[in-house]
Amino acid sequence: MNAIRGIAASPGIAIGTAVIVAESLSQVSFRQVAPEEVAEERTRLEAALAESAAELTELRDASAATMGREAAAIFDFHLGLLRDRSLVGAIVADIEREQVCAEYAASENFVKFADRLRALPDPMFQERAGDVVDLERRVVSKLIGASGKRLKDLGGPAVVIAHELTPSQTAEFHRAKVVAFATDAGGLTGHTSIIARALAMPAVVGCKDATVQVEDGDLVIVDGDAGQLVVRPDEAVLAHYRALAHRSEARRGALREGADLPSVTRDGTTVHLLGNIEFPDEITAVLANGGSGVGLYRTEFLYLTSPRVPTEEEHYRAYARAVELCAGRTLVIRTLDLGADKYTQEHLEEPERNPFLGLRSIRFCLQNPALFRTQLRALLRASALGPIKVMLPLVSNVMELRQTRMMVHDLCEDLDEEGIRYDRNLQIGIMIEVPSAALMARTLATESAFFSVGTNDLIQYTLAVDRGNERVAPLYNGANPAVLTLIKASVRAAANAGIDCSLCGELAGEPLFTCLLLGFGFRTLSMAPAQIPAVKRVVRATTIEHCELIARKVGSFDSDRQVLSYLQDELRKVDPDAVNLDG
Ligand code: PEP
Ligand code: MG
Repeated sequence: MNAIRGIAASPGIAIGTAVIVAESLSQVSFRQVAPEEVAEERTRLEAALAESAAELTELRDASAATMGREAAAIFDFHLGLLRDRSLVGAIVADIEREQVCAEYAASENFVKFADRLRALPDPMFQERAGDVVDLERRVVSKLIGASGKRLKDLGGPAVVIAHELTPSQTAEFHRAKVVAFATDAGGLTGHTSIIARALAMPAVVGCKDATVQVEDGDLVIVDGDAGQLVVRPDEAVLAHYRALAHRSEARRGALREGADLPSVTRDGTTVHLLGNIEFPDEITAVLANGGSGVGLYRTEFLYLTSPRVPTEEEHYRAYARAVELCAGRTLVIRTLDLGADKYTQEHLEEPERNPFLGLRSIRFCLQNPALFRTQLRALLRASALGPIKVMLPLVSNVMELRQTRMMVHDLCEDLDEEGIRYDRNLQIGIMIEVPSAALMARTLATESAFFSVGTNDLIQYTLAVDRGNERVAPLYNGANPAVLTLIKASVRAAANAGIDCSLCGELAGEPLFTCLLLGFGFRTLSMAPAQIPAVKRVVRATTIEHCELIARKVGSFDSDRQVLSYLQDELRKVDPDAVNLDG
């Protein structure tokens, strides 16, 4: 038995059979195979090479007919590489000698081959390195596709073990078969973790080398409460975890029972608890957990789960469905937050060097006006069906808000000419996710209909800590006084300007922070639906007066440790069960 420590990304305990999935082309997982599996890996490789050759022959013939012989010669070169014994022979030799899976052997040797070409003095050979990379993608994706297909043929409950998973891969898991997952990479507020929580699927990320330590078919336990992956447990450990799983489910059941009670503090202040969603159908879960609407609908998932760019109609249908399910309740729809770890890099020939500081979110939309207009027009049309608020992600200066408003204004004129109805008072608000926005909150508040503080990004940009990087995960901390100062400045600026300010980062769903946030002045918190009952319990057990006292006290601390231990003590007084659940 072996226990691998990671980050508790999504709560719950699940027991199942490990399925190793190598899904990221840039990071094909290393997987050792048993001696008796070597022949099967060779066969998989041969099948992938044959399938690639058939595709390339077809491509060559089609391009010869339409684009001429020069274009066709490129594919002839690819075909030639597939027959190159020094390349293919080296892949086979690695499978046999090193006993590694076919995708790893193929990827390694393609990369080495490309490096050799790049090192040659003749520029003609250097350029060919790009062809080798292209061919690698073709062949390796076939091998990986095969491991993806294996997921569909699973019998019992499976636990996916991967180096890294994209948010869309996670969203597409077959729920009846995949009960949990664990990854080598990733952090608590990475989007894959957020999806896991939305699916209520136990998950542990940042395990560093789970794909090396776990073998396909191993019995594993994902402990999403403690952040642990247990490999090949003995009977006693299994029994212990079965009992834990039972207790954890009972606790969640008890919390859900109080979900429908009013979200009001003991001294009579209403706190709006809303849900964060990625797909309209999650609204059912928001309401079932006692939420009073949607505070963040991450619309980029329309892109992330589709092989092509969604049309205006597809956008419209999704928003119309959300309006219908919300039935008049609050519905805040965020415009596309693409970029960084979401979507755009896979579609670029040359990925950005620093994508989290690059062309993402509102910047990406403003530089792709056709794509942005499609979404804004669909949003305007859907606003005729029921209340909608539009929220812009990652605004870092006032010009981005003004430019968007101008686009919306032009679109309204078009709709007027076409006689199409829309909400003439559509509210456009912004997320406060970067320090520049928090520091300029007073100015932004004069032009924005509302704020929502996105702490997931605000923490990473304030502390210069990548939210998805397991190596710096301990530094990523919402209790850091610098972060708290910016949160407080944002909510104060909003109050002074008379606009609403909610908080929709993962911090909103942590009972540990509930009193502090109420003390800062927040009256709306938006979170993963499953977190609503636990936060509501704290709201109902406290008073605003006490929360304000907590906020004042926290203002005098200078380290995150002090803040955390004080908040833990306070929460223990208000709701001891919540502390047990957290810790
Ligand atoms: C945030 O950054 O806090 C947020 C809610 O947005 P996302 O997690 O989608 O980046
Ligand atoms: Mg964000």
